[in-house]
Amino acid sequence: MNYISTRGGVEPASFRQAVMLGQASDGGLYMPNHIPNVKDRLQSWRALNFSELATEIASIYAPDICKSRMSNLFRDAFSTFVESEVTPLVEVGDVFVLELFHGPTLAFKDIALQVLGRLFELILEEQDTELNILGATSGDTGSAAISGVEGSSRIKIFVMFPDGRTSALQELQMTTVEGDNIHCIGIKGSFDDCQRIMKSIFNDVDFKSRYRLGAVNSINWARVMVQIVYYFYASLKFDRPVIFSVPTGNFGNILSGILAQRMGAPIDRFVLGTNENDILFNFFNTGRYERGKVKPTISPSMDIQVASNLERYLYLLMDGDSDSVVRFMDQFMNKGIAAWEDGELVDSTIASNRVDTTESLRTIRDTWINSKYLVDPHTAIGLAAAKSICSTSPVICLATAHPAKFPEAVTRATEEIPPTHTKLAGLERSKARKVVLPPNESDVRNYLANVLTES
Ligand SMILES: *Cc1c(COP(=O)(O)O)cnc(C)c1O
Repeated sequence: MNYISTRGGVEPASFRQAVMLGQASDGGLYMPNHIPNVKDRLQSWRALNFSELATEIASIYAPDICKSRMSNLFRDAFSTFVESEVTPLVEVGDVFVLELFHGPTLAFKDIALQVLGRLFELILEEQDTELNILGATSGDTGSAAISGVEGSSRIKIFVMFPDGRTSALQELQMTTVEGDNIHCIGIKGSFDDCQRIMKSIFNDVDFKSRYRLGAVNSINWARVMVQIVYYFYASLKFDRPVIFSVPTGNFGNILSGILAQRMGAPIDRFVLGTNENDILFNFFNTGRYERGKVKPTISPSMDIQVASNLERYLYLLMDGDSDSVVRFMDQFMNKGIAAWEDGELVDSTIASNRVDTTESLRTIRDTWINSKYLVDPHTAIGLAAAKSICSTSPVICLATAHPAKFPEAVTRATEEIPPTHTKLAGLERSKARKVVLPPNESDVRNYLANVLTES
């Protein structure tokens, strides 16, 4: 098993290399050079617990890391989850909900980022070297990435967020984590400013290598690989193929499901839910992929107009023809629009529905009243999107965040007191640390250079 770029312009890389590099240098994303079919192993996989299943899947995609070390790493990473099952499945009305939010920061991103932090550490230890992660977040990714490298002696992390524009809770989840290796940078600007500064710094190859900068965003293959596990874990609990409904932003989560299906997991179809930021809804219904303006909603982790992981899906759809991928992506970059074969249905196994704020709020309320089950606004989109599906197959909706992470929206929907969680209680009383910088690349560079030269 090795890794090739969706754009076909780099030498094949090992799993370790793909993890450390993040993005391929030709601008593409790393993909496995083949996707093995595991149908003959499914029966035995049904008996495995979450960490054991993760170890089996990693032994396929990460053959260059010894299986027993991977097994220890997974056990350690998933021990940070409060549920022994890691991702429990619960029945809610006539669907099933796969709870992915039992990790340290209460969002599904913990599952992959708890693993990625430890993977970095393992590789850095072997090479006796260090890594400085630079990230930009609108809220959720920052705290999950910080938690993933908490206590690491070889990794420093710098997270930029738009100062005063994340929720108060999200800021506290980042700034109250203790540790000299954690640096939260409030940027006096928007999330776009944070991302622009990050990309621009990464484009300076000299600066990047001098300060050993690395990335943790969702284009890292290891994140996609780890997410494959829960699609197998949940679907193997049933004796017939299931439907997954996935609230989608950057297309990372659902991509892992599509790969699981290609490997032979018993998955019938997918429902892709979007909020008012409906670029993917339009793509799957018309074949047109057209950039719009980001609209802020009550499901902020899905307020995305460019879904970076879609490129990996296009590569699968185009049967690994990287020239076609390059043409599509170039057209999208230059014109803001690209089209899939003139209006042809893109994929009959993916049904996409757009769910607006009114419908999300109503779904939170109805689910609470009818089933006494509280969902967050992202999960609500998956639940609402699945409603129009006519099928006798079991429907599994992915719950991507704990409702206590979004108390305002949930209270607005239910008109009851806001949900709470012990992990969030008392955060206001903890000591918070951050620096605040103007939205200039030079200020961020100076800050990084200062911190990294002193240490
Ligand atoms: C990141 C996130 C999503 C979107 O997942 P993608 O992999 O970007 O499609 C959905 N819900 C929550 C709560 C998230 O944090």
